[in-house]
Amino acid sequence: NPNSHLSSAKTFQEMGLPPALLKGVQSLGFEKPSAIQEMALPMCLRRPPENLLAQAQSGSGKTAAFCLAGLCNVDTRLAMPQMLVVTPTRELAVQCVQETLLPMAKFMEPPLEVFSALKGTHPPREGIRAHVVVGTPGSVVAALDKRRLLLTHCATFVLDEADAMLEDSGDSTQHRNKCIQIKNRYLPPGQHQTLLFSATFPREVKEFGLQLAQSPVNEISLPDEQDLVLDVITQLWIDLRHTRQSRLELIQELYDVLEMGQSIIFCRTKREADVINERLQAQGFTCSVLHGSLDGVDRDATMEQFRLGHNKVLLTTNVLSRGVDVPAVSLVVNYDMPTMGYSQDPDPDTYLHRIGRTGRFGRRGVAINLIQDDSTFRVMESIDRHFSPTGSMLRQASTDVEE
Ligand code: ADP
Ligand code: MG
Repeated sequence: NPNSHLSSAKTFQEMGLPPALLKGVQSLGFEKPSAIQEMALPMCLRRPPENLLAQAQSGSGKTAAFCLAGLCNVDTRLAMPQMLVVTPTRELAVQCVQETLLPMAKFMEPPLEVFSALKGTHPPREGIRAHVVVGTPGSVVAALDKRRLLLTHCATFVLDEADAMLEDSGDSTQHRNKCIQIKNRYLPPGQHQTLLFSATFPREVKEFGLQLAQSPVNEISLPDEQDLVLDVITQLWIDLRHTRQSRLELIQELYDVLEMGQSIIFCRTKREADVINERLQAQGFTCSVLHGSLDGVDRDATMEQFRLGHNKVLLTTNVLSRGVDVPAVSLVVNYDMPTMGYSQDPDPDTYLHRIGRTGRFGRRGVAINLIQDDSTFRVMESIDRHFSPTGSMLRQASTDVEE
């Protein structure tokens, strides 16, 4: 069974979920808990509540795990926030709500209400009465500071994508401090559980987790099923070093000849993304561009368009490389190979995250890497070596796509 790492023998029924959530899980098409769900759920549901630090790779079902766990402890008859989820980006917050939380809670009675605390949304003057609050650290703290969010009934505090929260972005120290503020200043001590989820578990993430989650703390760290993700993805590289063809021309040709579902093209710069967008639009493709300088509302709208399948191609700089789950993507193109910042140092983790947009939960997918010069070639080689020290996971494709 190719999915054996992801699924488990246990059923959701056996895990003692309330009937409404079982129906929700069914309607999402989940047949069995994934490995992280099978391990995390019983720990989350223990009474008295225990804290959890959990690591499993992107796409392994972490978001679904904490949504289920948290919702088990939400009573929708009580119009007070009972679960708080903090995510590093607004995309992750929106995605958590739209893709997992709401579908999963669809059968709860009375209906579940969710408030998204994001830049630009204003918590009501009289205070947030939604059962679940999902947001970015800054906006959550702002709502708390204004006393529009009260956590006196909060049973579950979730930190999602904790590694991304601490990532070396302009926001990282701020993110860290805001999370700690939420914990120390606003959460009622002893009455809630803290659940931290992360795709990777470097020391600083663990320390951050231990700072937030006092004992008893459970830890789960699932070995990266790299092989699994990588196994179901056909990874190709196309050598453009000695041809006259530019990457842009190649993309146009590829999209001309290939029948495909939805795809994502990762570029380095916003300008590259815009240019490819223009060309592909001219070729009759419906595309959208997502990058950091769009404001939040535009980013949400762009993602939603893509998720609904209105657009076939999504062009993006690195905003999307982490955690955002786009269903049914059959092709990922690395127009630029992922490197650390603007250096030429290879970034295997980001590579894995990017190509993980295909091949989720055993789906098949194709990743194409465009190699336009020797330094890009070296980046690719070392990524290949990183994941496949003895062989090669990447295959060279012919550039004669017309044949
Ligand atoms: P993560 O947060 O670890 O990246 P998600 O919870 O977002 O993972 O799940 C990734 C994808 O797998 C989503 O499309 C989700 O709907 C799906 N998924 C999650 N759990 C299951 C399951 N038990 N069975 C089938 N699909 C699942
Ligand atoms: Mg997630």
